[in-house]
Amino acid sequence: MAQQRMLKFVTTAKETPEKRDAAVRSHDFDEIYREYAEVKATEQASRCSQCGVPYCHSHCPLNNNIPDWLRLTAEGRLAEAYEVSQATNTFPEICGRICPQDRLCEGNCVIEQSGHGTVTIGAIEKYITDTAWDRGWVKPIKPAMDRPESVGIIGGGPGGLAAADVLRRAGVQVTVYDRNDRAGGLLTYGIPGFKLEKDVVMNRVKQLEEGGVEFVLNCNVGTDISFDAIRGKHDAVLIATGVYKTRALTDPGSDATGIVRAIDYLTASNRKSFGDEVEAFDDGTLNAEGKRVLVIGGGDTAMDCVRTAIRQGATSVKCLYRRDRANMPGSQREVTNAEEEGAEFVWLSAPKAFAGNPVASVTVQRMRLGAPDASGRQSPEPIEGGLYEEAADLVITALGFEPEDLPTLWATEALETTRWGTVKANFGTHATSLPGVYAVGDIVRGASLVVWAIRDGREAGTEIIRFLDGSGRIAAE
Ligand code: FAD
Ligand code: SF4
Ligand code: SF4
Repeated sequence: MAQQRMLKFVTTAKETPEKRDAAVRSHDFDEIYREYAEVKATEQASRCSQCGVPYCHSHCPLNNNIPDWLRLTAEGRLAEAYEVSQATNTFPEICGRICPQDRLCEGNCVIEQSGHGTVTIGAIEKYITDTAWDRGWVKPIKPAMDRPESVGIIGGGPGGLAAADVLRRAGVQVTVYDRNDRAGGLLTYGIPGFKLEKDVVMNRVKQLEEGGVEFVLNCNVGTDISFDAIRGKHDAVLIATGVYKTRALTDPGSDATGIVRAIDYLTASNRKSFGDEVEAFDDGTLNAEGKRVLVIGGGDTAMDCVRTAIRQGATSVKCLYRRDRANMPGSQREVTNAEEEGAEFVWLSAPKAFAGNPVASVTVQRMRLGAPDASGRQSPEPIEGGLYEEAADLVITALGFEPEDLPTLWATEALETTRWGTVKANFGTHATSLPGVYAVGDIVRGASLVVWAIRDGREAGTEIIRFLDGSGRIAAE
């Protein structure tokens, strides 16, 4: 009986894959978690209680059939577990690595609620798909027949790539345009290797390429080719450009050298991991080695900067955040990892001014949490007299991202945007205000998560196929 293998949460303790020792891992960019051994994955999967109403499933943005692939894993039927897992997720090995599971599937696991410790869903999802790659179960993309229609996808991040996968499997001709020299978006140049090794992403890009998806790289739409030209070339277009405009500091002295943007800093570091020459890294501008580093922000990007600086050999790394630990947007798991690696978090603190050029120190304002605002979140407010100086040679700002002004950059005023500047798209169909033009991922949602971009991309791919089945080329404006 299959059930007998399950429900082991009372007798089997939760065990995550082993974490590499902090003293060792903080010197390299390899992922910090080791893989489960098969016996461990099987054992951990068997802890699932096979809930009739699985909250893990309903809180996964992709509605993964989690109890099903956990049961198959517990029964040692890994190839079938992989089939079920990949049916709803284009990149399960990526989500298994970097989803904030504590806020999604695992955070809603009922056995966690009963105090037994969640089923380690993400680690098992990663294990299943890594095994599938190792054993050759990941099938190449081979459409049953080719269709004549073509779709242009602007942006090769997870949103664009998930749509490319759906479209290409249906035989549609797909071209992905990206201004970077490698596809993958923030999976490639934002998220560091210690969370997501680069060959994991490149394997997926290669799979799409080998399946017939054409990549036009180093192509900035709006500069190297116009948006209208892309619309003219394809039967439908998908905008998946993400959000890259960095919120800037406005405090006195914040234009000094030595104060850099997180996206530039992380991109340089990721490029070095690929073995690229990066002038701004090699000349020290974007390299933390031997420096006292201050990172400003409390989200995942700040966390990634902190941990990158440690690996680059900074002499000290501190993270300033204006709220407290309980109210930070970043994942608690990542804070713990960063602390283990030697980072110091200075909660309830914000920069007030910067001295020196290049920057030499920061005046830090101590904060406290005041009354809740309209959203119910307590607003930080300065403590009178609570000022002190913090020495710093490199300041990395990670204050969040905003959308670029696409209608202006692309001279396409008819593309409707929201008051936040994100592209207005229907949340079900992903259709924009322009016929035959769809949009997904961060450019619609604002800075969000990989798993949501994948969901959007899969849905938009399906919707574009419906559009292609029902009508012809995009009507000229
Ligand atoms: P992106 O991944 O941003 O891809 C957009 C692509 O469009 C890029 O390749 C870009 O070059 C291209 N592009 C943009 N404009 C143009 C143009 N005009 N012409 C041609 N190409 C263009 N999410 C998680 O779930 N877990 C994490 O751990 C996590 N960590 C993160 C760490 C960092 C440092 C950052 C910045 C984000 C992190 N995120 C994380 C968020 C996640 O990366 C994004 O939500 C996700 O990548 C959005 O996918 P996307 O496809 O919409 O856009
Ligand atoms: Fe959990 Fe993310 Fe996997 Fe869904 S995709 S099961 S949220 S790790
Ligand atoms: Fe299993 Fe937890 Fe999902 Fe229930 S909520 S089906 S115990 S993983």
